[in-house]
Amino acid sequence: MPGFEIFSDEERKEVMDVLETGVLFRYNFDNNRNGHWKALSFEKDLCKKLNVGYCHLCSSGTAALNIALASCGIGAGDEVIIPPFTFLATIESVLMAGAIPVFAEIDETLCLDPADIEKKITDKTRAVLVVHMCGSMAHIDAIDQVCKKKNILLIEDACQSLGSTFKGKALGSFGSSGCFSFDYVKTITCGEGGAVITNDEKVYTTAQAFADHGHDHLGADRGQDKHPILGYNFRISELNAAVGVAQLRKLDQILDKQRQSKQIYKKILSTCSAVSFREIPDAEGDSATFLSILLPDENKTRQALKLFNESNVPGAIYWYDNNWHYIRQWDHLKDLKWPARLTVSALNDSFNFQNLSLPASDAIMSRTLSFQIKLSDTEADVEKHANQLKKILDQL
Ligand SMILES: *Cc1c(COP(=O)(O)O)cnc(C)c1O
Repeated sequence: MPGFEIFSDEERKEVMDVLETGVLFRYNFDNNRNGHWKALSFEKDLCKKLNVGYCHLCSSGTAALNIALASCGIGAGDEVIIPPFTFLATIESVLMAGAIPVFAEIDETLCLDPADIEKKITDKTRAVLVVHMCGSMAHIDAIDQVCKKKNILLIEDACQSLGSTFKGKALGSFGSSGCFSFDYVKTITCGEGGAVITNDEKVYTTAQAFADHGHDHLGADRGQDKHPILGYNFRISELNAAVGVAQLRKLDQILDKQRQSKQIYKKILSTCSAVSFREIPDAEGDSATFLSILLPDENKTRQALKLFNESNVPGAIYWYDNNWHYIRQWDHLKDLKWPARLTVSALNDSFNFQNLSLPASDAIMSRTLSFQIKLSDTEADVEKHANQLKKILDQL
């Protein structure tokens, strides 16, 4: 992580194709575009790579989540089960849908715990929105089974996990729909961009229309087609899509490099008695964008952070204190600081995050540290960094 580290002439060439025609729009202008359809070709390539039937490219990962929820029919008053360790966009998109986010605990995969999902299901639950955090996977087969048993939808936020698989099947392709982000710091980037994938033709048909004000895109001219539904503008521009076309070609190379580096980290750190690794249900499918370790308790974890700081050893991310990714610091969510009245607050008196208690998630996140695997690091850089980490972790 991330693809911006290996920008090259390939991205520049794809962007120049678009600039030379001047057609920055993904639809129409067939005569002017000199055969260039960057969004379309990205969608085809991604379907092939992930082995899914349909893909719709859109303006961001957040947009993808909004599109997925709407296309699966999630709306006002529906409960959606989500994890407390994610990026806020997951929760915002549920709120935008007018639905109610219901938090369930995570397990040592750092993703939703299938057993706790079952406990949080009520007669209003319509979907589980599982988030595959930091390049690796939830117990997706067990979660899929819970959803099937309880007859609720499974939607996957795989924004951080492009290229990860579980038993050979791409993350994002297990549920009714899967969402990806190509923002600037993701595994590959379009600058800004996202995608919804699905094997359900109906979900796809709704998704591509919803993302463009309800246009059905049938026939040659978008101006003359029908608008069977209302929608919104979640379109991507051809310029952004062009960058993604080149980046997607580099995905395998990115994954190989990350996996090699992660092996080195793991080999060196596995000799530290204080360290255990994040649970990865299928290690072969890990995209290896991050290395996440668990230490024995919060005190030892804070001690490690202090020692890293004092010795200028870079890179440790402590999500527990971070206000982007873990619920503990989300006062704006707990105080419901939405600019206007939320539909859901009128619909559900128990819509209150102030007294939320997630002891199992707190216990895991308070002792978890992550390290980003950088593409620009050489093998020697990785070895050096891993040995610096080991030296400190051995003092705990
Ligand atoms: C990045 C991210 C998103 C949102 O993607 P954007 O393209 O930045 O809107 C959603 N969920 C997760 C888990 C993410 O990491």
